[in-house]
Amino acid sequence: MGITETQTDIRKLSLDQLQAEIEQLGERPFRAQQIYEWLWEKSCTSFDEMTNLSKSLRDTLKDYYTIKPVVIDDKQQSQDGTIKFKFKLHDGHNVEGVLIPTEERWTACISSQIGCSLSCNFCATGLLDLKRNLTCAEIYDQVVLISNESLAQYNHPLTNIVYMGMGEPLLNYKNVLASVDRLTAENGLNMSPKRITVSTVGIAKMIRQLGDDNVRFNLALSLHAPTNDKRSEIMAINNTNDIDTLVDALNYFYRCTGNKLTFEYILFDRYNDTMDDARDLVKLCQRVPALVNVIEYNNVDGLPFSKAETEQREQFIGYLEDHDIVAKVRRSRGKDIDAACGQLANK
Ligand code: SF4
Repeated sequence: MGITETQTDIRKLSLDQLQAEIEQLGERPFRAQQIYEWLWEKSCTSFDEMTNLSKSLRDTLKDYYTIKPVVIDDKQQSQDGTIKFKFKLHDGHNVEGVLIPTEERWTACISSQIGCSLSCNFCATGLLDLKRNLTCAEIYDQVVLISNESLAQYNHPLTNIVYMGMGEPLLNYKNVLASVDRLTAENGLNMSPKRITVSTVGIAKMIRQLGDDNVRFNLALSLHAPTNDKRSEIMAINNTNDIDTLVDALNYFYRCTGNKLTFEYILFDRYNDTMDDARDLVKLCQRVPALVNVIEYNNVDGLPFSKAETEQREQFIGYLEDHDIVAKVRRSRGKDIDAACGQLANK
């Protein structure tokens, strides 16, 4: 039978909730544990695959519940090995994710929302309206599908997960945290939280909430400009969450968790790549224990920014290093397939 309104998306239930419901169906509680393992640890997408359950229980489950797996709609591989995925959700929407293989790391970049409400000026996703938040299971499925591809193509499991795809993760707080919980659980993917980074444009209240919730993953702030004047020009969120407020929130997060903090800084030609910008960035880094990732920009059609010159980039990085700031350059990957930072737009 097709999905009906009375059927519950079974992966929206916690183990405790599932246990209670399974008992109501007259089954023993350990059945819930078995079902939970099928759903999460084995990423099973149909009740018929749950072979250690009786046929009658499987049929009952089909009557009351549904599984809404994410599927791969399309895949594009870049010359540099990066693979961009177009995922299809049960309601026909698409989101994108990326597998980024390097010599030492196999990273999945995943989405947390369909579209985005924030419209940062340099970002292709910001050109799409927000449709809805992804569920915990939809976030989890992206990782599973990318991980399978990593094993198939590169014979290597994922080493890192970054929430840097479409959407603002902290505006889908509950589902993002639930997905990290599943990804790191022994009866999930058993990934180390130290290998997971959630990236935010800076919602101060939610950064503090992460501290209060004592999360174990790393946090990256998409900074992209070191002063309020400049940052507000390119990221409207800065009008309500300015740099001083974010500095306080990040320090609070760090005091609570001790987890790694990173500033993401995309270099835009003659916008934020001058020596004045480098000086302002150094001053900011003296206020927060954060590393800096300097990221190459990829031009997006219709947006007014372009990639910084190589010489300018080197001077910029050199200035940071001379002032003892730990800065890494993140070369953009997957440019030829629009899979690089700020390019995800369901193309
Ligand atoms: S950078 Fe992030 S928050 Fe800003 S528009 Fe793009 S997806 Fe949304």
